[in-house]
Parts: sequence; structure tokens; C-alpha cells
Amino acid sequence: MQQREEVPLEDLAEPFSRHLCEHLRHTDRQGTFERSRFLDACRAFNRGEIDADELRDTTVRLGFQNVIDAFHVVGNEPLEVRFFEDERRGHIRGIRLTDDLLQLVESLGPDDLSAEAEARWRLVETAWSLGLPAHMLTIGYDSGREVLLTPDRTRRKAITPARDALNGYQRGHCFYCFDAISVEPGTPDLAHVDHFFPHVLKRTELGTRVNLDGVWNLVLACQRCNAGPEGKWMRVPALQYLDRLHRRNEYLIQSRHPLRETLMQQTGASEQRRREFLDAVFNEARHTGLGLVPWETPPRGPQAF
Ligand SMILES: [Zn+2]
Repeated sequence: MQQREEVPLEDLAEPFSRHLCEHLRHTDRQGTFERSRFLDACRAFNRGEIDADELRDTTVRLGFQNVIDAFHVVGNEPLEVRFFEDERRGHIRGIRLTDDLLQLVESLGPDDLSAEAEARWRLVETAWSLGLPAHMLTIGYDSGREVLLTPDRTRRKAITPARDALNGYQRGHCFYCFDAISVEPGTPDLAHVDHFFPHVLKRTELGTRVNLDGVWNLVLACQRCNAGPEGKWMRVPALQYLDRLHRRNEYLIQSRHPLRETLMQQTGASEQRRREFLDAVFNEARHTGLGLVPWETPPRGPQAF
């Protein structure tokens, strides 16, 4: 255990630079800064100009300079939790992982944590590559391909599978019944990307004013809740789930998730406005007839969020 908690920069350098090289291949812009000698080394590696050993040495020397210092700062505020301690000056010459990180890996599972991190990374680099101020970034959703898309309407490009981006909050549990779900395509318990307010509402007057494909309206549901015999189908969920949706959206906004700006654009600039928005959609949706009998389901697992 002691061995696993200590990670020298030498060991961190290979996976860290490998992920950056992969991302540089599809998005050359990886930050808001002008130049980075470390990223230049990754680009040189991608062009075949330096080898893996040189890349690793450069990564150890230059790759972590800002990353380790800035990792626990979110929106100019230091985080209360710490996922590692900086031990670059100690005998480890690296970082020491904390129990908070090990608990996070345990609660989400290593595969889902990787998918969630990848989804966030894709979202953030999309804003950088488009040169957009964060408040201009409005991510779209393609329900056919189940992906989140760039806001660029002329050439809409898939950024990340919607499931990966949504599962960070739900952590492998159905939004409605808390049953276990998977986000890995091909698995039998693969989650459905569910429109909280059903997409058939797009055909109503409400759907012309409100973007029902907005991230604010998307959750992950087990197949039983989404489309089982007792499933939700085209109905409007009961009020308790509306509260849950509000909590989810607020959590993503408060935690400075890359979807924060998108959520605020779609539902309101303040928490009160966002709550009023959800209440208004809920009341209107119920009057269309789809919500006359609100849909509910018994929990199939302990409350997860
Ligand atoms: Zn369910």
C-alpha cells in the first residue's frame, strides 16, 4: 500500500505525457497560455523528432511545474480536499496520493473515473480550441449519436459521449432508482441517456421555447426506468425527481464543471432563476397531458445523490 501511495515524477511522466501527446494530436491548443516548452516537447515526440526517453526526461523536468501547484485551485480558490501531497522536495521526488483520491477511485471505479476525466478534458479543450470565453461555450446534444457537440453550428463536431460526461455526478447509478448502470457501450446494463422532460415535448409549444436537448435536461437512467414495462417513457417525472435534477445542475455549476456555463446559459444566471426555470417547465409540461399522472419508481438501491 505504501508503495502505491508514493508516485515519483519519473513514474508519472510516462502516462502524463502519453495522454497529452494523444490530446495534442486532435486539439493543438491545450491551455490559455502562449507557449509551453513541455508541450513543444510533446509535439516534437508526435512528429517523431525525439524519442520516448527524451520525452520522459523533459516531462520530469518541465511537465509538472504548474500542474502540481495549480491542481487543487478551482476558480482561484484552493479546494478543501487534496488528492495528493506535493513531495517533490522530499525523498519521493514526486507526489503522495491521499485517502481522498483512493476513495474517489473506489466510489467511481477506475474505468468510469478515466471516462469522466476524459469527458471533462474534451469539454475544456473545446473551449480553448474555439478561442471562446467560457461564458460563450454552449454544448449541444445529438440524441442520435448520444454525444455532446461543439457549439459551432456550421460544422458540429462530437466532443465526448454524453454518458461519460453525465456519469461523473451519478457515479454508476440510475438517476431515478439508483440501480447500477454502466456507461461502457456493449455492456448489458448500459445506461440510457434520458430526457428528464421527454423529448416528445419538442413537438409542443413548450419545446419551441425551451431547449429540451440541453444538458440541464439530460440524465442517465437504467433501461428499466427509461423504457421498461413500468418505465418513464413519455411521462413527466414526479416532483421529488425535479428537486434531484435541480441539485444535480447546481452541483455541476458550483463545482465549476466544464458544463457550468452551458447549464447557466440554458437555465439562468442565479440559483433562484434556475429553480424558477425548472418549476415553470415542470408546470407547463404537466399541463400538456404527459404529466397528469407523474411517473415514479421505487428505489432499487441506497440513495446515491
Ligand atoms: Zn432506474
